[in-house]
Amino acid sequence: MNKRTFIRICSAAAASPLLSPLFAWASEKLTNWAGNLAYSTDRLYSARTPEDVQGFVKEHSKLKVLGTRHCFNDIADSSSEFLSLKTQDKVLALDPKAHTVTVEAGITYGQLCPYLDKQGFALHNLASLPHISVAGACSTATHGSGEKNGNLATAVSGLELVTASGEVVKLSRDKDRETFYGAIVGLGALGIITKITLDIQPTFMMQQYVYEDLPLIQLKEHFDEIEASAYSVSLFTDWHKERVNEVWIKSRMEPGQKFKAQPVFFDATLATKNLHPIAELSAENCTEQMGVPGPWYERLPHFRMGFMPSAGKELQSEYFVPRHHAVEAIFAVERLRDMVSPHLLISEIRAVAADNLWMSPCYKQACVTIHFTWKQDWPAVSKILPVIEKELTPFKARPHWGKLFTTPRSQLESTYEKLPGFVALCNKFDSHGKFRNKFLERNIFGG
Ligand SMILES: Cc1cc2nc3c(=O)[nH]c(=O)nc-3n(C[C@H](O)[C@H](O)[C@H](O)COP(=O)(O)OP(=O)(O)OC[C@H]3O[C@@H](n4cnc5c(N)ncnc54)[C@H](O)[C@@H]3O)c2cc1C
Repeated sequence: MNKRTFIRICSAAAASPLLSPLFAWASEKLTNWAGNLAYSTDRLYSARTPEDVQGFVKEHSKLKVLGTRHCFNDIADSSSEFLSLKTQDKVLALDPKAHTVTVEAGITYGQLCPYLDKQGFALHNLASLPHISVAGACSTATHGSGEKNGNLATAVSGLELVTASGEVVKLSRDKDRETFYGAIVGLGALGIITKITLDIQPTFMMQQYVYEDLPLIQLKEHFDEIEASAYSVSLFTDWHKERVNEVWIKSRMEPGQKFKAQPVFFDATLATKNLHPIAELSAENCTEQMGVPGPWYERLPHFRMGFMPSAGKELQSEYFVPRHHAVEAIFAVERLRDMVSPHLLISEIRAVAADNLWMSPCYKQACVTIHFTWKQDWPAVSKILPVIEKELTPFKARPHWGKLFTTPRSQLESTYEKLPGFVALCNKFDSHGKFRNKFLERNIFGG
């Protein structure tokens, strides 16, 4: 293979102008975004074309792709080589009739969304931040909120993948059905995604309102009404004082969908200024609130592109619970407040619709997600997670693939009925385990 195709990121080569997009990662030890995980290698190469990807895959016996490094656990880690598709960030085709957009796998939502909006289109939903890569987000079932909204991977209608042999495999929702459903939330185990096709819809405007101090008793008695009140609803709580600190309501400005913002919402009070989910932090980093109309991509995420999302120095965990257990599960966590609170920055509760994607935590079941943004103290958090997981076991909780959890494989096996099928699919696409790492061995293959 042409050696110039790939750029070895190392300090010795730092002078090369070609390195500039990736150099910031490699000037120090290569870590994930939060800095809680130093990857096991800093051998990071950049593939500029799908052919580069094929060549690299053929030449190496072990490798992983790095997206935007926003996972908190070792799902993306590699002890041999890393490949980055960061420079493959173009929109390849927009089909207004089919309502689809096809993109290169290195693109982030922050790059894609303004383009789509300009062309008169939108995605159905976004995560709390636009900074993440589309391929990484879909591979880990990243989600936003909204009881009628599936996770971000549910927008995928087609995929191009370089498998372990270097072969290009094309999968489509219409033609490949079950194989497609197995491959979309692929956890980086099936191969390297080079192209993704996403469903789009006509662009829409939104308004965001925040309410403060919703009593937990209101949540208990009116959970379904609260979740149904708008297109996307997020509940932030520190589990103190039996209240939800902030309710974020994101509403589409269309007849029948528009949220009528009253001064009081289930005993919570309409905020009089923009807020950060962690009330002590500046709202400058957050998307506009107070009902100011704006395009979908500037209201669906909580955090603005170009600004630090969340708190920065933090850890995250999240559990998906079947929707019908939502209130019981929330109160099970609330009972742990004295243990949880000292280590917590904020919790968020969201709703996600059911889907058909084998490894999605919402496979065939609508869910409520209970999320924890922790202070960056893994020794303490690692002791709390098993306690939370035990409390949530009766509800068959599934952890977020990209966040920190201690759930053993036996439990993942009992909650993911499609796990054996997924393992078989991995073996078909990657029979020698080229894309396997410790995370996958521990949680998927059980080796
Ligand atoms: C501040 C913050 C806020 C967050 N908010 C949310 C949220 O609102 N909702 C939510 O669900 N999650 C959220 N997350 C979690 C995060 O968005 C996901 O874990 C997502 O996977 C990050 O994408 P990434 O590209 O950074 O992934 P990475 O960590 O880079 O990679 C994740 C996995 O995807 C694989 N991958 C990446 N690119 C490819 C490719 N081209 N082909 C094959 N495999 C690939 C990697 O190998 C790895 O296995 C948040 C994270 C942070 C740091």
